[in-house]
Amino acid sequence: MSAPRRLGLADPALLRTDGYIDGSWTASESGRRFDVVNPATGEMIAAVADMGGAETGRAVAAAAAALPAWRALTAKQRSVLLRRWYELMVQNAADLGAIVTAEMGKPLVEGRGEILAGAAYVEWFAEEAKRAYGETIPTHDPAMRLVVIKQPVGVVAAITPWNFPFATIARKAAPALAAGCTVVAKPAEDTPLSALALAELAGRAGLPDGVFNVVAASDPAPVGAELTAHPAVKKISFTGSTEVGKLLMGQAAGTVKKVALELGGNAPLIVFDDADVDAAVAQAIVSKFRNGGQTCVCANRILVQAGVYDEFVDRFCAAAAALNVGPGTDPGTDIGPLINSEALDKVQRLVDAAVAGGATARLGAAVHALGGTFYETTVLTGVTGDMDIAAEEVFGPVASILRFDTDDEAVAAANDTPYGLAAYFFTKDLARAWQVGEALEYGMVAVNSGLLMTELAPFGGVKESGIGREGGREGLEEFLETKYLAMGGLDGAGR
Ligand code: NAP
Repeated sequence: MSAPRRLGLADPALLRTDGYIDGSWTASESGRRFDVVNPATGEMIAAVADMGGAETGRAVAAAAAALPAWRALTAKQRSVLLRRWYELMVQNAADLGAIVTAEMGKPLVEGRGEILAGAAYVEWFAEEAKRAYGETIPTHDPAMRLVVIKQPVGVVAAITPWNFPFATIARKAAPALAAGCTVVAKPAEDTPLSALALAELAGRAGLPDGVFNVVAASDPAPVGAELTAHPAVKKISFTGSTEVGKLLMGQAAGTVKKVALELGGNAPLIVFDDADVDAAVAQAIVSKFRNGGQTCVCANRILVQAGVYDEFVDRFCAAAAALNVGPGTDPGTDIGPLINSEALDKVQRLVDAAVAGGATARLGAAVHALGGTFYETTVLTGVTGDMDIAAEEVFGPVASILRFDTDDEAVAAANDTPYGLAAYFFTKDLARAWQVGEALEYGMVAVNSGLLMTELAPFGGVKESGIGREGGREGLEEFLETKYLAMGGLDGAGR
């Protein structure tokens, strides 16, 4: 049976396996391909063209050649094309979601949700394209007028991770294209198919050749080296680990490129004594276990005040125990497999070390009976801040619960990390909500909610969680240069 049929796609042409350069499906120069594997079954889904520096250079050249005509379009003309792209994503959401589930493992309902969330960024930036406003500045000289205009930064390289293989690309490509930039995208090795499906839809939407390109690779280093060294690339927009983000930032320094970095997190979720415990439990479950715990904004540490600690832990364990682990294609599945065996090893190492250090496994703490990369839904209590599991991004279905007494203690513990992406806390006290909200050193703070991502608001981190914002008004700014025009000789002298 062919792969598209196995995936049950209504439109098998969405499953693409070559790179997309200058509007053409392109094999690698070497003819090499790499396997994309379904993490739930271990089955090979597709063999994708394995590209390197040479193909990346061609993609950048195509993006540079397409730039003048693309940026010369009116914002409204670009907006119409982006809107068409958005509509195709929504129309094909079931197929695109099935591709995400097949290559990444998340439950189908989350796969489809990712498509709609990613598409919403395209819709938003199709509108925002028309709002790249400049400004006029009251002059210091009657013979001069001072004007600021906004222009696209140029060719953008978008490098993305496997955990949201569709949405992370949509979130970068949409504002870049809206601003008048052209794009070369490099998806993760584990999940290139969602990016290639996006390219298929870009072609159908009528995006001109070269405006959106995708280069997939089994070895990211030569692609990254070309993208960060090529003089035509003006911005690197990266989502992934802090380690690789630092590496790319260093490489991009050689040609002083702009960088936007959406990096790792270590999100605290704080439950104060006065919280609505039912709501806190329900939201903590969503925040912790969404995408099998494999999101950069997943609650990585759950800090609970002494007065509600026992009650919270009991209810949280009961709710976690009710979650079903299984293949993403099973309708009852809440938590899919981990992405690969390295991820499984990391989760097991962190859990084992925590238990050896004194934490208690209230639930799970082992590889799931399903085998493969499935891991049991796990709850650890008695975790302390000095354990690796509280310091590193777990990226798995493991909840670590810590106990605290005072507000100051909770805020100090929450901020005691080099990361600063998302934080959550639960309280009914308005003064506490403001004080803690302002004291947390994070780019995003949710009060009485375990979810905060929307295309309407600026998403991003501080400290070693990154630079720049995606979404909201700020999202477009990231891809615009500010140009100051000083117009002189306006006093009419010599007329
Ligand atoms: P990763 O290892 O940093 O990989 C991210 C991307 O960078 C992949 O496409 C990867 O390619 C590529 N890459 C790796 N080495 C490279 C190099 N030398 N040159 C150029 N590209 C290179 O991260 P990941 O494991 O895929 O994703 C998980 C991480 O992403 C977590 O830390 C998570 O918190 C973070 N994340 C952050 C956000 C956010 O918005 N802040 C969102 C989602 C995820 P390969 O796949 O081929 O290695």
